[in-house]
Amino acid sequence: MKIQMKTPLVEMDGDEMTRVLWKDIKEILLEPYIDLKTEYYDLGLPAREATKDQITVDAAEASKRLGVAVKCATITPNAQRVEEYNLSEMWKSPNGTIRAILDGTVFRTPIMVKGIEPVVKNWKEPITIARHAYGDVYRNQEMRITEPGTASLVFESDSGSTEKAVVFRFEGPGVLQGQYNKDDSIASFARSCFQYALDQGKDLWFSSKDTISKKYDHRFKDIFQEIFDAEYKEAFGKAGLDYFYTLIDDAVARVIRSRGGYIWACKNYDGDVMSDMISTAFGSLAMMTSVLVSPEGNYEYEAAHGTVTRHYYKWLKGESTSTNPVATIFAWTGALRKRGELDEIPELVEFAEGLEAACIRTIEGGKMTGDLVGLWSGDVPAQKLDSRAFLEAIRDEMEAAA
Ligand code: NAD
Repeated sequence: MKIQMKTPLVEMDGDEMTRVLWKDIKEILLEPYIDLKTEYYDLGLPAREATKDQITVDAAEASKRLGVAVKCATITPNAQRVEEYNLSEMWKSPNGTIRAILDGTVFRTPIMVKGIEPVVKNWKEPITIARHAYGDVYRNQEMRITEPGTASLVFESDSGSTEKAVVFRFEGPGVLQGQYNKDDSIASFARSCFQYALDQGKDLWFSSKDTISKKYDHRFKDIFQEIFDAEYKEAFGKAGLDYFYTLIDDAVARVIRSRGGYIWACKNYDGDVMSDMISTAFGSLAMMTSVLVSPEGNYEYEAAHGTVTRHYYKWLKGESTSTNPVATIFAWTGALRKRGELDEIPELVEFAEGLEAACIRTIEGGKMTGDLVGLWSGDVPAQKLDSRAFLEAIRDEMEAAA
């Protein structure tokens, strides 16, 4: 008897090698065990072109309505893709569109297995990075200064007042930059972080450079603290969790010395850089999960990696590929577990946990995809499997434990 679901998941299909894996994962690991209920949206590039990208907006709206989504990696078109897929427009990044509609924050967490050890040897538990993906240097205005002159910051209010501050008196050439953020975006970021920390039962750290940036970064610090005190302090206390703010320099030192096991919220640029550092230091991009959490508590799960184009071109030629499906499987288990929790279906939660454990045991037993072989330091010899054989090994491992 297959596990029955109550509410459908929003299923967003994608592109290239991950689209191939998507179908195989469903066929080998999900559909034999679950009466899978999904509302299907094809976010593959041909379907985005055919619908003038309306399908992406519809999928995001569905995620708001149904609360839990799972997404396959998708191509973000560039000039070369416009030619390759004969696109009428360079459609925007689907992730950007979905994030803007859900107003969410992305949390990235490494999947840890014994035998693939983090570079930082005291990291025993995953470190989750939350990046505020709005504003700051990513929405800046910049100028190249070529002659002497005075640079000022000017704000003209709609009511007619003006505020002006001199930034610098240039005596020679240089560079200049202006950036901004909004209270409501920072507040959404803070709420998503507190919500996800409670959800995961993990402490939350937030860091910025408020000692130097006494108004800009300080505003982030204040908004986090105000929202924590007013809305989350009690729930954190009951759950035995901590929220703490510290200077980014101090955070970096503590992270390196820590054993892991917490969520680290970062401003946009810090999060961009630190998430690459964390994923590299934990091992592999193919072992990194990603979830978009909205302040209202909507969840969209995906793998942190892209569509693995190089493998896809090999696959098109009929060659077998050893593409790692683990982060995509964890996107499915994340979504199924969340659906199971919300709809009170314990079998679905147990299935998700069983499948994750089977993935980990399969790798720990020495069976893995090519990307992990070079990172392997386990006791048993590494055995490189192609993607389908690896999925079948996970299925056998899961069935053996059932
Ligand atoms: P990518 O993540 O597909 O690949 C980067 C490198 O990591 C490659 O060397 C690849 O072989 C390797 N790799 C990544 N995932 C792997 C896996 N599961 N198994 C084995 N090796 C893996 O990123 P890219 O090459 O920069 O981009 C390819 C396409 O993916 C682009 O069109 C880009 O727009 C898209 N992309 C989508 C997302 C998303 O949907 N979230 C994220 C990043 C890139």
